[in-house]
Amino acid sequence: SMKSNVVILGATGSIGLSTLDVIQRNQARYSIFALAAGSNVESMQKLCVTHQPKYAVMHCEAAAKQLKEALKHTHIEVLSGTQAMCDLAAHSDVDTVMSAIVGAAGLLPTLAAVEAGKKVLLANKESLVMSGQLFMDKVAKYGATLLPIDSEHNAIYQCLPHTLQQNTDLGLDSQGVNKILLTGSGGPFLTRDLKTLPHVTVKEAVAHPNWSMGQKISVDSATMMNKGLEFIEAKWLFNCAVDDIEVVIHPQSMIHSMVQYKDGSVIAQMGQPDMRTPIAYGLAYPDRINAGVAPLDFSTIANFTFSKPDFTRYPNLALAIEACRSGQAATTTINAANEMSVAAFLANKIGFCDIYRINSEVLAKSTLNSLNSVQAIMEQDAQARAIARQCISELN
Ligand code: NDP
Ligand code: MG
Repeated sequence: SMKSNVVILGATGSIGLSTLDVIQRNQARYSIFALAAGSNVESMQKLCVTHQPKYAVMHCEAAAKQLKEALKHTHIEVLSGTQAMCDLAAHSDVDTVMSAIVGAAGLLPTLAAVEAGKKVLLANKESLVMSGQLFMDKVAKYGATLLPIDSEHNAIYQCLPHTLQQNTDLGLDSQGVNKILLTGSGGPFLTRDLKTLPHVTVKEAVAHPNWSMGQKISVDSATMMNKGLEFIEAKWLFNCAVDDIEVVIHPQSMIHSMVQYKDGSVIAQMGQPDMRTPIAYGLAYPDRINAGVAPLDFSTIANFTFSKPDFTRYPNLALAIEACRSGQAATTTINAANEMSVAAFLANKIGFCDIYRINSEVLAKSTLNSLNSVQAIMEQDAQARAIARQCISELN
């Protein structure tokens, strides 16, 4: 058919649901081939009934069993486990894979899509932070089309010259690009009294002022580790150096990032803080489709402000930039440490400021190996998780 066949990894999550919303508005162009999630059977069952994929995959085997029972009178085939996700992401009938699993769990299915040369819509920044060079080498080797969905990277992509969209090997400088200006809102604690930060609650930390997102990325936005991961993500996606990227605080989240050119021009991408815009861009590129997003109404925008990030308030941002300078093993390590510390914070086991304490301690205690295979990356990740587990238990 002329329709594009789509696999959504992380279908039940915030990005997954937004992707399904955009696809439902554009049914003449897209059909759902497979949906994959972790363990939320109830949500997956509803999505299957509504969207009628050919396949549904749950990471958790018990969840897959339940789903299979619930869908036994349908034609939907239910599978379980990471390998099934990899197989479907690489299936010859598939054109596009939305990578929206949260965390390191997204790495293998995303790489499978890359190795099959698919159009890969990358929301799962953690997989790129973990695997950096290897990931980008595979994109080139297998001729995959990689489109950034993270709103900042999607904005940067839109603001770059076509030559760099097609080929980042050219280098920013040769195409007249001076700097990438990575914007961030500063999260819910931008102006909060620093002395009170150790006592903030989970509820306060996940209450982002502008964006509605999953729990993990919401905490990352409060610590600005999210901007740190995005810094590393930008380095790989756009083939640039640490000094080519500058973080700019913009609390209104209407400019989603900017590109500064040699001649002094700055091109910004603006829009509502609604992930359906970058998702629609990625799905339809180079076309434009309806995303169900209202246009910005400039008559109601009172303030448009900018400032420098305060590294005392956001030590995780400094840590991530330092890791980015250090290299692949360091970024893989802080990503794993951060997944562990954020999970511990969300489970009320540690305080908000302990997230940084653990992340920096894990980085200091880790042996940084050279990572030239997926296995080496997984081992570096496992080492960091083991050290983090130890640090977390010492705090309890
Ligand atoms: P959510 O927590 O809302 O969703 C996570 C999704 O991943 C769920 O579908 C979950 O399934 C699934 N999942 C978890 N573990 C596994 C596993 N082992 N195997 C398969 N599926 C799994 O997260 P978000 O949608 O907010 O974020 C997803 C990714 O997109 C993250 O990497 C995040 O950084 C990135 N991103 C998100 C943005 C946003 O606005 N939300 C913006 C930019 C990037 P289940 O429901 O069954 O647990
Ligand atoms: Mg982002």
